[in-house]
Amino acid sequence: MRKTVFFAFVTALVIVGGLQAQALPPRLEFRHQGLRIETTPVRNHVEVSSIMTLLGGEAAFSASAGVWALSLGDHLVQLAPDRRLVLVDGKLTEVQDAPISSPGGIAVRLGFLDDYILAPFGFHLETIVGGYSIVPGVSSGKPVTIRPAAADFSATTTLVLSLDRKIEASVEARPGGGVVVLMPGSGPRIESANRLRSRRVRSVVSGPGRIEVDLSPGVGLISWNVLTGPNRIVMELGTVPPTPTPAPIIVQQVTRSGPRPIVIDPGHGGPDTGAIGASGLTEKALTLVIARRLAQALRNAGHPVRLTRDGDGGRALTDRAAVANRLDARVFVSLHANASTVASVHGAETYYMSLDDRASDEAAQSTADLENRAGGSFVQESSALELILWDMAQSEVLNESARLALRVQTRLNALLGLKDRGVKQAPFVVLTGATMPAVLVEVGFLSNAKEREQLASPEHQQALADAIALGIGDFLVGR
Ligand SMILES: [Zn+2]
Repeated sequence: MRKTVFFAFVTALVIVGGLQAQALPPRLEFRHQGLRIETTPVRNHVEVSSIMTLLGGEAAFSASAGVWALSLGDHLVQLAPDRRLVLVDGKLTEVQDAPISSPGGIAVRLGFLDDYILAPFGFHLETIVGGYSIVPGVSSGKPVTIRPAAADFSATTTLVLSLDRKIEASVEARPGGGVVVLMPGSGPRIESANRLRSRRVRSVVSGPGRIEVDLSPGVGLISWNVLTGPNRIVMELGTVPPTPTPAPIIVQQVTRSGPRPIVIDPGHGGPDTGAIGASGLTEKALTLVIARRLAQALRNAGHPVRLTRDGDGGRALTDRAAVANRLDARVFVSLHANASTVASVHGAETYYMSLDDRASDEAAQSTADLENRAGGSFVQESSALELILWDMAQSEVLNESARLALRVQTRLNALLGLKDRGVKQAPFVVLTGATMPAVLVEVGFLSNAKEREQLASPEHQQALADAIALGIGDFLVGR
């Protein structure tokens, strides 16, 4: 019974959100400010160049890059045939349907036109007889694409709804259980919800102006937050006491006071020591010392800072980025110390996330393997798909992470007089799912006798902390 109702609901939504999928007539009219054009759809796609002509904008093709640049006023949209990535005013967005090559150059589906071309230019489509009128402003029920991802921790689940644009939203606990996200004026479209895997979240379903989140029995809403840069709604779910009367549970929105913090993650902790040097110096102790010094250096420069641990306590790898997400951190830096079977290898390295599961070189991959092993039970109980979904959060800020890594490594190279070791990419679990620029710094090799001695000295620890703080500062200034 329940399944039938659910299926009917989903079917109704597919019909409501039909802009994307409908078959177009052989001729289609577009009107804009007293002008009109008639176009011939190409395989249910609309020629972009004719729309840009109608709007009085420009569509320019760069043959070298194979990319179309659409401009109108101050806004710029870049797209390419068969590419599922669109750059809207410098922000990279993953789309469901790639544009196609067409006689006019490039053609897109109506939903794409509405969301990624007209919306940035301040227009939207309205249906008229025989076609569409392109009118200013945001339509009521304007589509918003939502990508849900959940990460289960021992006591709580973090549910992140990534949004492709900024919306007004509020979250409420439903009296009968579950959660409803209200987004008046928005037509939410959920992407890849079938890939959501969580012990506490059963389903995420959209309706006009709302999203319904069905939860496992006894699970409720602990806190929620609507965040920007990138746009997302983050919910903390966990066990809530059963309410004797079916009254709505009052949930406080998490309010962040003051500026967004920088989150520093001292690698390892608790039973997980990380690498151990011949002198007995453990990676977990070293990273905590440097993290505290780094925190102080950043605070001296006027930045608020939070640590993922400020003692010997352990934390699951994915929980560390989740802390940064919950705090809406500006930057996430995970500190580690390396070890190599080759005793001569030394120097500091800065890593950022590799999304295709390949490291930039063999040494980078073995470093990632070493660090990912600390994931312990969590990584084992997480499905690969869940981790892929979490990757997506980082993919949106990947270029920024690369820039942050470069700034930090430049300062470390200056300090250590290094030339060869530098910025690398590898699939680190700890960076997975961070929704802000995130890097992992390997401050040096505990397997190298000389460097081990350096790393144990307070002076060198301070110099490393200062260099990393300067690198973070360089990055933030340039934003
Ligand atoms: Zn480590």
